[in-house]
Amino acid sequence: MKKLLIVTALLAATGAAHAGKGHTHGVGRLDVVVDGGALSFALELPLDAAVGFERAPKTAAEKAALENAGKLLNDGAALFMPTPAAGCALKSTQVTVPFADGKPASADHADLDAAYVFECASPAALKGFETAVFKHFRRLYRIEAQRVGPASQGAGRLTPKTPSLAW
Ligand SMILES: [Zn+2]
Repeated sequence: MKKLLIVTALLAATGAAHAGKGHTHGVGRLDVVVDGGALSFALELPLDAAVGFERAPKTAAEKAALENAGKLLNDGAALFMPTPAAGCALKSTQVTVPFADGKPASADHADLDAAYVFECASPAALKGFETAVFKHFRRLYRIEAQRVGPASQGAGRLTPKTPSLAW
């Protein structure tokens, strides 16, 4: 219970720090939490990096681009590949696409948010993961990742050339 509280506090702190700063175009953020057999990812992508604009879609092509980005993010098993030996299976996915309901933006920036939870049969074998996010979102050139695990925590920078994090 104590460990969970610390994890929650850490994530709340990083989330709060980020909310005040907005984002940098081309740079995504990723929070990774390993807790027992559960492996959670929380991904935040600047909308600009995903579709090339950051406002409500105006044309059919822009609407299609936004819809396609949502579809890609909904396939979490294709986007995040944990260490195969850990036997992780995707259990839940939550994707939030801005402007999907036609509402105007409330701020200058807009993000795509996606959260995934994997359940791992052999968590001791879990040593990291690889992501295919860069293959689908070509305007994205960096992801700043933070990781909280049972024995340690750390941070890392993922790029199209090194789209993985190991621990
Ligand atoms: Zn922006």
